[in-house]
Amino acid sequence: MNAAPGGGVPGRRLRQLAGIPVGVLRGVGTVAEGELGALGIATVLDLLTHYPRRHVDASHLVTLDRLTEGESASVVGQVRRIRSSGGAARRGRGISRVEVEVTDASGSLRVVFFGQPWRVSTLSAGMLALFYGKVTRYRDVLQMASPTVEVLGPGPAPSSPVAGSGWGGDPGGVGHGGPPGGILAGRVYPVYPLSEKSRLTSVRIARYVAEALDRAGELADPVDDRWRGDLGLVGRTTALRGIHQPASPEDVEPSRRRLAFDELLRLQLVLALKKARMRQDARGIAHVVRDPGGAPSLVDRFLDQLPFEPTGAQRRAIDAICADLAGELPMHRLLQGDVGAGKTVVALAALLVAVQGGYQGALMAPTEVLADQHALGIRQMLSGLTVADPEVLGGARPPRLEVLTSRTPAKARAAILGGVAAGTVDLLVGTHALLEESVVFAALGVAVIDEQHRFGVEQRAALRAKGHAPGGRGLDPDLLVMTATPIPRTAAMVVFGDLDMTVVDELPPGRQPVTTEWARTPAAVKRAWGRVRSEVAAGRRAFVVCPLVEGSELVEAASVTDEMARLADGELAGLRLGLLHGQLRSTEKEQVMAAFRAGSLDVLVATTVIEVGVDVPEATVMVIEDADHFGIAQLHQLRGRVGRGGDRSWCYLLSTSRSPEAKARLHALERSNDGFELAEIDLSQRGEGTILGARQKGRSDLRLASVTGDRDLVVAAAEGARSVVAGERGPATWELLEEEVRIFIDDDDAEFLFKS
Ligand code: ADP
Ligand code: MG
Repeated sequence: MNAAPGGGVPGRRLRQLAGIPVGVLRGVGTVAEGELGALGIATVLDLLTHYPRRHVDASHLVTLDRLTEGESASVVGQVRRIRSSGGAARRGRGISRVEVEVTDASGSLRVVFFGQPWRVSTLSAGMLALFYGKVTRYRDVLQMASPTVEVLGPGPAPSSPVAGSGWGGDPGGVGHGGPPGGILAGRVYPVYPLSEKSRLTSVRIARYVAEALDRAGELADPVDDRWRGDLGLVGRTTALRGIHQPASPEDVEPSRRRLAFDELLRLQLVLALKKARMRQDARGIAHVVRDPGGAPSLVDRFLDQLPFEPTGAQRRAIDAICADLAGELPMHRLLQGDVGAGKTVVALAALLVAVQGGYQGALMAPTEVLADQHALGIRQMLSGLTVADPEVLGGARPPRLEVLTSRTPAKARAAILGGVAAGTVDLLVGTHALLEESVVFAALGVAVIDEQHRFGVEQRAALRAKGHAPGGRGLDPDLLVMTATPIPRTAAMVVFGDLDMTVVDELPPGRQPVTTEWARTPAAVKRAWGRVRSEVAAGRRAFVVCPLVEGSELVEAASVTDEMARLADGELAGLRLGLLHGQLRSTEKEQVMAAFRAGSLDVLVATTVIEVGVDVPEATVMVIEDADHFGIAQLHQLRGRVGRGGDRSWCYLLSTSRSPEAKARLHALERSNDGFELAEIDLSQRGEGTILGARQKGRSDLRLASVTGDRDLVVAAAEGARSVVAGERGPATWELLEEEVRIFIDDDDAEFLFKS
């Protein structure tokens, strides 16, 4: 029954397990099927990948006659009686109290719960449960107060003392080759995630799992002996048994690692296949990076005329990008770098490679403010540069750059679109408006997406597709995506594994770290406003960032308007304040920004529209109100708006929050100016769901793998996937893994990835 097709990997396949409904297991009738269904378990594969939440080490279990006062202990016993008093039932008579009498073969114990009246409905007489807590003495009787509880099953009571000697009998009568004494007889047993609604218990799930494992037998393992040896991983059959039925606590972690590797390998395979597929289908442009006649290229001239020396990291990034651009395959690269690392220069160099070869460049940014800002900065950096154009007098002209947003007036818009379609616009900078159907490029050569986290995967694809505009040359433009703040490397490998990656890991010289202070007392807040006034008095400028407001942008705009009025009459009276929020008209925004840049405004009171891109070197103070409402990455990005000139700068985080998470975030910002370090802290604090959540759907969820905890496995899986796709692991492995990947992704994706 485990035979594999000729030459294939022997053993039972996950695909087969995915085809067997749980109903075929003994003891799983229609009721149990429904209960399992509520947990998302329909097939034997679902059941076997319903991993324990944790394990209880039964070798530390103590029989009730051996409890010692003052020590913590785990006991398993049957609930004999349960009663409650106080609390809601008798308001005013103090806290509720639930008392449970628990017995095992050796004796009995009183367990009391204070302030947990719901225990009455979750525990009932006859139930078998595990209690973990400290043993105390009350009126000469030993008891446990408010212990941790795991309901193991509806009973029966253990037939013999627990510790070490096999307890719990064999409740299901599953006569497989498991340890004598049944499922609970091992030293370690699994605690499964359960739903409140169902009456399933961990013991019942363990029983079903035991039968499933038994009947499944030896599983086909795509990771062969040698590969496993290289990675120090156990076999798949061993791992599944080890996580569900560990013989000792030491079995769990190697098992988890092996199964986590499988999850990561499947994910990396999908990404590697996507990458390979994209290459296969691509019709890219081999850009001319160097002038064939040996004259300095446009990019060289651009770098030469910058008012500063590019950093080593910028040069390295530009070299990597130029190598991509020169190749036939379209570039697909992620550019990471800390706030202020100078990613724009790198992006512009890429765009200019397109322009010098007669192609067009597009830069898409998430907000109008940022698009305008980019256009302004780029125009400045381009001033004095010329591009070859045989059609004009002298054979050269300045590059033409236009800005397009949804608020561009109709007439200007028509002119811009005409120029883009005719090829006379070299660089188009804009917002989502670039994706509109009416935007048709004559020859889009390089596309850059800034602050990619604000865009979806579809928008990335839509911009790339602009190379195929009707009348265009039907080529895939090279694509560069940039992040606002860094993402930890292994997280990036999981989320952006289909992209190549470049890190600008060096700040321009002379950058001063921003002194950051969490202002939590009235005195500290006063100091913050004092700093704003003294810096303004010294000729510098300040930002005030107003809190995020739940609800509409309109409400937020109203709230920042109020706040500005309040500050104008209070802390910042006498200073020249400007207001910036998303609801202003484009011309109003431009005016305010221009006035602030020119120094005719001292303080910009703004919403997070200033989060990205705003670049005013004279700004040296930022005050962020209700800073606890923001995440680490966002605060770091906001803070990046100051400290951009050579002057000392400050950032004040106003917050009176007492939440431990908020405190940890604000402390992290106080301690570190390093975006890479903060990204790690952010990831470990927020958990991985938020980062992975967006791109991971359905069954491909990483259940056991951790992007932070299993860095080595992420790297090994990426390398493994590469070797599999490159055919280095042999056809049998490839065939089995393809089959497994198909189980975990939907049909459309499979169609795309595996079409030959
Ligand atoms: P980010 O990586 O955050 O997008 P920017 O590209 O906006 O950073 O650059 C931040 C500031 O640093 C800009 O004012 C830019 O002109 C300046 N800058 C970029 N590269 C250098 C460099 N090599 N030396 C000095 N200043 C630089
Ligand atoms: Mg930037």
